[in-house]
Amino acid sequence: MRVCVVGAGAAGLCAARHLLVEPCVTHVDVLEQTSQLGGTWVYTETTGYDDFGLPIHTSMYKSLRTNLPKEVMGFPDFPVPESEKSYLPAKDMLAFLQSYAEKHGVTEHIKFKHHVQLIKPKQGATAELWDVTYKNLITGVTETKEYDYIFVCNGHYNTPFIPDIPGLKQFQGDVMHSHDYRVPDIFEGKKVLVVGGGPSGMDIALEITSVTEKVILSHHVKEVGSVFPSNLTQKPDVEKLDGNTAYFKDGTQEEVDVVFLCTGYQYNFPFLHESCNIVVEDNCVEPLYKHVVNVQHPTMCFIGVPYYVCAFSMFDLQVRYYVRSMNGTFKLPTPNEMMRHWEEEKIDRASRGFTRRQAHMMGPDQGEYYISLSVESGTDPLPPVITAVHNHSSQKFLDNIAGYRNDVYKIIDDENFIYSQLQEKYYASLA
Ligand code: FAD
Repeated sequence: MRVCVVGAGAAGLCAARHLLVEPCVTHVDVLEQTSQLGGTWVYTETTGYDDFGLPIHTSMYKSLRTNLPKEVMGFPDFPVPESEKSYLPAKDMLAFLQSYAEKHGVTEHIKFKHHVQLIKPKQGATAELWDVTYKNLITGVTETKEYDYIFVCNGHYNTPFIPDIPGLKQFQGDVMHSHDYRVPDIFEGKKVLVVGGGPSGMDIALEITSVTEKVILSHHVKEVGSVFPSNLTQKPDVEKLDGNTAYFKDGTQEEVDVVFLCTGYQYNFPFLHESCNIVVEDNCVEPLYKHVVNVQHPTMCFIGVPYYVCAFSMFDLQVRYYVRSMNGTFKLPTPNEMMRHWEEEKIDRASRGFTRRQAHMMGPDQGEYYISLSVESGTDPLPPVITAVHNHSSQKFLDNIAGYRNDVYKIIDDENFIYSQLQEKYYASLA
């Protein structure tokens, strides 16, 4: 089997790490458009476009420290090394990924500065094969190569989501997205409206209070208990902008110089030909079985789609799950069955109040999701304690955003009861 992995971020590296030791796999190419591995964790001052005219991929800002403790940031077979602190700077995570790739001999399989332009099922082939067209950015030469399997690992924190706020297009001040944020200095002395209360919105809003005249943080997160500096005011959702005035849902208004959108990102697979039968609408990527398998072309998988997860651990589990389907350890359901499963999952999520935009949000569902992947494929489960730590850290983030990174975790796996309860529930649902 010849496998093409798109992207050398944490997900692509993890895919290659497992594929390279898999006897049924004869060839692995990791195609990476930039000159470095690490994806999100590579910091660059440059915003906009790179030297080859491609949009800058990374959204990393200079001061970033992880929003999860390192104890749950590693891979199950390659933990982040011991150190005093739990919440690490981005450069440490990048170094960690570099050592992971070196240790597992992945680096020599990465074709850097290779931009994947098109992936489509090969026409007229008897078995399913893929044509991957990529451009060597150094030579300018475009090539098409045939593969048996595709791992889509291109990340989903790089294409900004711009909300439809009435008056935004006509706004007279500056408008920027957190994708282009690097350092706070650009906001010196300004009145900044930060839109969005996700991890980036909260973190950056707090960081820029050191230089701004005023920060107005507009969001609809209910449980924020954190105390912010006196020049930061929290507001509900912004309803409209008119001239330089922002109007909020509670009837109040504020004059602002900058609208700073921390409104998240969109899934984007510009290289997938429509015959791959993957549609992205309102941030729902479908149809995917278990958020991994392309239902209509099961020799294509997606690693890393779910969010609010222990990312690297989940990548590892998704890869092990899928590789076991490749080598015949277990058999994926038929496309019809996978489609039915996906439709049922959507109905179940909707009945529990998830919107379509939250189709891949795990959060409270993550433990059960991990179990379902390990049970179906018979691969080792993830330690349930990581889910507990994820939930604990996420709550601490809301309670004390300025101080929660001072916490130090020690992993003691005393959560097995949660695991067995969930496992029983999962078996019951199968019956
Ligand atoms: P990426 O890291 O985005 O890698 C994708 C790779 O694919 C890139 O190298 C890109 O260049 C390449 N690529 C894309 N398109 C093509 C193409 N057409 N051809 C060739 N190559 C291509 N997660 C945490 O767990 N903890 C955190 O604290 C945390 N903090 C974060 C902070 C920020 C600011 C952001 C944006 C994200 C953060 N995340 C965090 C999420 C983080 O993105 C994931 O943990 C993880 O690193 C994503 O890995 P990935 O491989 O899926 O994607």
